[in-house]
Amino acid sequence: MGRAFVYVVLGGGVAAGYAALEFARRGGYSRGELCIISEEAVAPYERPALSKGYLLPEDPARLPGFHTCVGANDELLTTKWYKEQGIELVLGTKVISADVRRKTLLTATGETISYKTLIIATGARALKLEEFGISGSDATNICYLRSLDDADKLVNAMSSCSGGNAVVIGGGYIGMECAAALVTNKIKVTMVFPENHCMARLFTQKIAEYYESYYTSKGVTFTKGTVLTSFEKEDPTGKVTAVVLKDGKHLPADMVVVGIGIRANTSLFEGQLLMEKGGIKVNGQMQTSDSSVYAVGDVAAFPIKLFDGDTRRLEHVDSARRTARHAVAAILEPSKTRDVDYLPFFYSRVFTLSWQFYGDNVGEVVHYGDFASSSPSFGAYWISKGRITGAFLEGGSREEYEALSVVVRRKAKVSSMSELEKQERFLDPLLTWQVAPYERPALSKGYLLPRGAARLPAFHTCVGANDELLTEQWYKEHGIELVLATRVISADLRRKTLLTDTGETISYKTLIVATGARALKLEEFGVGGSHAANVCYLRNLEDADKMVGVMRSCHGGSAVVIGGGYIGMECAAALVAHEIKVTMVFPGKHCMDRLFTPKIAEFYEKYYTAKGVAFIKGTAVTSLEVSDGK
Ligand code: FAD
Repeated sequence: MGRAFVYVVLGGGVAAGYAALEFARRGGYSRGELCIISEEAVAPYERPALSKGYLLPEDPARLPGFHTCVGANDELLTTKWYKEQGIELVLGTKVISADVRRKTLLTATGETISYKTLIIATGARALKLEEFGISGSDATNICYLRSLDDADKLVNAMSSCSGGNAVVIGGGYIGMECAAALVTNKIKVTMVFPENHCMARLFTQKIAEYYESYYTSKGVTFTKGTVLTSFEKEDPTGKVTAVVLKDGKHLPADMVVVGIGIRANTSLFEGQLLMEKGGIKVNGQMQTSDSSVYAVGDVAAFPIKLFDGDTRRLEHVDSARRTARHAVAAILEPSKTRDVDYLPFFYSRVFTLSWQFYGDNVGEVVHYGDFASSSPSFGAYWISKGRITGAFLEGGSREEYEALSVVVRRKAKVSSMSELEKQERFLDPLLTWQVAPYERPALSKGYLLPRGAARLPAFHTCVGANDELLTEQWYKEHGIELVLATRVISADLRRKTLLTDTGETISYKTLIVATGARALKLEEFGVGGSHAANVCYLRNLEDADKMVGVMRSCHGGSAVVIGGGYIGMECAAALVAHEIKVTMVFPGKHCMDRLFTPKIAEFYEKYYTAKGVAFIKGTAVTSLEVSDGK
């Protein structure tokens, strides 16, 4: 006997929560048709909180405060929310076997639950020391950290250990975040890991050095290049009293935290679904080798377009959120859902530090910024074949992190590694964008909106004409080669050749010249200063990104718009939308004087005036005062 659902989400973690949110938003199910089955006793929550807010000694995060999807400024999906949405939560229920052919799941309580469509969101489990031949990790003062129960055990162990010693096994992000939490809880920490430096899968030696010396200043000791071999225990409690290392050292321990990696929870489906990279293989729709079954989050191995379709299994919360939402979109609206196009993203926060990483850490590394400051702002680019493949930034602002993601998504071309290295902060003047053709008019309209702004790939040509959206994938599919971020520096029409800035000669039989136009610069009228950090033109995406950044830092301030043509008019409107006071200056008698009659212009000028715009007409700018680069 059992229940039957149309949609079953197996697993009740981050991905399950976001899948539920997407179902509720799209409304593609009826009450009682959708359920989430979870081994955990509580509704899905934001797992990253377990190693951050949950471990704080004062005012710690507790449920319901961090149910999904609060971390992403979305709704807080409490048990009540699921009830209201008609989504059944089958909690505290472990699925012990699955039959993909029959479309059934068997629970530990003996119930058979059937589905029409299954979303596997079983995540991953923490690796146990026993899997490395070390016994004893059941001791009351040895902690792992994957679930709420683990976090509660860790909180209890910490509370009975104040002023004592903890050994953290593992130098990955769980180890690093737990070590920071232990220090904050006034516990002395020794970190033990076999690598040369912490976060070895991501950090370079130089980046790791910064964090290790920061941790050292907080009292953390590092024991690197060795592993634990056994524990010393106290009889009869079985509590660990010391950790024994391979090099013979004994480290006294009142508690131990173990963060030595995870394994995806694939076992229910092995032999039934295709596997890859330690996870369940899916296509760009998050669909497994069985068309009724989807996999999302940590358990899914999916193609990353940005890495030329290479399959990756990511263990990060952002990927869990996005892949879950994508699968639901693909299930409910398959014809409208393109293949997932995900930019890998990972972040961590420890003490007062905070970093973000985008892309892939392959290729040559260039570090930049200030590694010495107590309020650091530094980072690294990974560069392969002259283009950015990954970027890391510590201590960035929201705008900088957003720009960082754009640089990686567009595989920005690096013109000079040595100049890049000299950057004091994250800036991108030395990078040129790699991006397929887009609808340029969007740059002065949707792109500049304060909320819900248009971003690529949404406004590639020819979307504005209700045609297809010509993404990079589209060009690939149609066999059209895009030679991006490449400047043609000379043309020889007699020989039918073009010479590029990379020294390549490209020949043609027929040439279509579509080089458009460039924005005139103030310098061409004898006015200097247009290089200043807050002087913007608007012709291409880099210009638009600069303008967005400047507008964000200028909220409530004032702007001068030079020129009364349509660029001036549209930018003035965008600035007003950002609550920036605008004065327009132009030499004509009225705005848009190449097209508008005085009567038409009067209407628009009045309208703009009503929005707070001031007009200074019949005059021109003669110079700009620039101080501190602004
Ligand atoms: P999970 O959230 O792990 O959920 C899996 C769910 O499936 C669980 O509810 C589990 O009980 C259930 N389940 C599994 N098997 C069964 C079964 N047989 N029957 C029933 N239920 C089952 N990522 C970042 O990017 N940044 C961070 O700062 C960060 N911090 C983290 C801190 C901690 C402590 C942890 C553990 C992870 C952190 N992560 C972070 C990673 C991030 O939380 C995961 O990538 C994310 O939780 C994956 O979501 P998921 O839904 O795929 O898996």
